[in-house]
Amino acid sequence: MGCRRGELPVLGAVLALALLVGPRVLAQRADIELVPALSGGDGPGPVTYSGYQVLRVQVTGTDTAELLRSYENNPGAHFWSESAVQEGPVDVMVSPDVGRRLKEELTRSGASYTVNIEDVQEAIKRENPSDLLQPRLQVRQSLQQGHPLTWRKYHRLADHHQYLDFVALRYGDLCETFSIGTSTEGRDIRGVKCGRGKREIWIDGGIHAREWISPAVVSYLIREFSERSTTSNDILSNFTLYIIPVLNPDGYEYSHTHDRMWRKTRSKNADSTCIGVDANRNFDISWGKSGTSQEPCAVTYGGPHPFSEPETRAIRDFVLAHKDKLEMFITLHSYSELLFVPYAFTIQKPDDYDEVRAVAERGVAALRAASGREFSIPRTTPYNQLSGVSDDWAKAVAGVRFTYTFELRDKGAHGFLLPAEQIEPSGREIAAAIKAMIRALPAPQRQSGDVAEHREAAAPAAGKRAAGRRFY
Ligand SMILES: [Zn+2]
Repeated sequence: MGCRRGELPVLGAVLALALLVGPRVLAQRADIELVPALSGGDGPGPVTYSGYQVLRVQVTGTDTAELLRSYENNPGAHFWSESAVQEGPVDVMVSPDVGRRLKEELTRSGASYTVNIEDVQEAIKRENPSDLLQPRLQVRQSLQQGHPLTWRKYHRLADHHQYLDFVALRYGDLCETFSIGTSTEGRDIRGVKCGRGKREIWIDGGIHAREWISPAVVSYLIREFSERSTTSNDILSNFTLYIIPVLNPDGYEYSHTHDRMWRKTRSKNADSTCIGVDANRNFDISWGKSGTSQEPCAVTYGGPHPFSEPETRAIRDFVLAHKDKLEMFITLHSYSELLFVPYAFTIQKPDDYDEVRAVAERGVAALRAASGREFSIPRTTPYNQLSGVSDDWAKAVAGVRFTYTFELRDKGAHGFLLPAEQIEPSGREIAAAIKAMIRALPAPQRQSGDVAEHREAAAPAAGKRAAGRRFY
């Protein structure tokens, strides 16, 4: 989680960082600051996480909760899940030194923890087999099938975009590419639309850079609705699906070239050397209140104001232009195997909550039938509220009735570093879920789209987090 709102000012944080940490972390921070836009690897070498571990701490009382909270501003502790929980597991990635100290303190206080990942750098190496095929074989396979995607490793942005072109070319009677705009560093935010129906659906991935399973599964869905369209003819004749695999292309590329754990966009922040905004806290819905930070160095920094990022403005403009036809908005994140229904920003439910949840339940049932895995549908509580997230905005402001956030595999054994061999099974189960959800949609009916104001008044202030929260 990094820094929290109202704590150390930026300069103080940087000084504290210089005093607290060893040369490795300083090198990381320098790397983040000095890498020029679109350097593509020209800058300092990538961040290494050798010796870093991911601990899962079981929080059972205030003592453990307070102990964890004391690490929130420690640059050697990177929270992979919400840090301020009252009860339940918290995942935290720790540098070797900080890990030693935290483990000692946990043991002394009687708290229990497990080591989920023994060595993060080793897990990064194992996650994505780059030597899957010899380069020459890769080129041959790419030429034969017409695109470079394999669904057996995590691919770079260019490969995802080539696949969109392939689909549009090969299945031109059904699909065409589209763009919603460009990123801070000038990359195209591209997708493919498939189907012939008047009713519209939005599916996106990759708004959080490090959640690599998300773009991989979205490209799997594109294959499902193009190359394998015979399994969803009923859907494609009634609907047009707008599918974007990588909403945050700058962050995604940066997570490949420089820092595997990068989450935010790559925009420059005024008055701070820290880069980027959490795009999924940047939407204009209860902005800046819960589960977000006003500190530019924090991983959940919501930005200087709503829609400060070109990426979120592009989503806003597209969704508003299509708001009379869009019936469903689905966004894919990882990890924790959950399916969220609105709202995240308030514990108050939308008027049509039962209908929206019923569609989610059909998805979860289809997913269970496909793979046996159990995704749950958590409730929003005063402790897990989130402000400024895309699906809430799409429903409360744009008036899209059925809006959902998936948290894909896994439940924490690998976390963000899900081995690539899980792309296909994950794609299969999510395709089954989403098809079932689309088929469960009732006949079109608009909601007013003006609920944001009175809902917002009911939202309690930010609080501690409880179980059922997102692991982002
Ligand atoms: Zn996420």
